Amino acid sequence: MPNQETQFTHFEPYPIKEGEEYMNDAQKDHFRRILNAWKQELMEEVDRTVNHLQEEATNFADPSDRASQEEEFSLELRTRDRERKLINKISKAMETIDDDDYGYCAACGVEIGVRRLEARPTATLCIDCKTLAEIKEKQLGI
Ligand SMILES: [Zn+2]
Repeated sequence: MPNQETQFTHFEPYPIKEGEEYMNDAQKDHFRRILNAWKQELMEEVDRTVNHLQEEATNFADPSDRASQEEEFSLELRTRDRERKLINKISKAMETIDDDDYGYCAACGVEIGVRRLEARPTATLCIDCKTLAEIKEKQLGI
């Protein structure tokens, strides 16, 4: 299963023209489309999980199956929770496109870059700040 946390791959990479202005309208549209499609996909995934849980819940035939079923439930609920958080992140990213803040590092303000954003459309840090943050997290043992 692909890691939905960081990957959304159903799109054509943006053809960057030489001397093109960063985050011009065409680039913004490109990322708006990616974020929108990703959000749709996740919302459908959440719907599927809910339907699946409802179907399963009505099928408690054998009590001995219950334990494994409950385990499966909690796993699905965790996945759903993760998806919901990710959907929120995507919505926030879409708002920053409208505010002209999208694609710039929240820590140092440099351009995050089209390719990095394509790999991680919800990224709010440039690669340097992200690396630094990860090192700090490790040192703090989070
Ligand atoms: Zn930065």
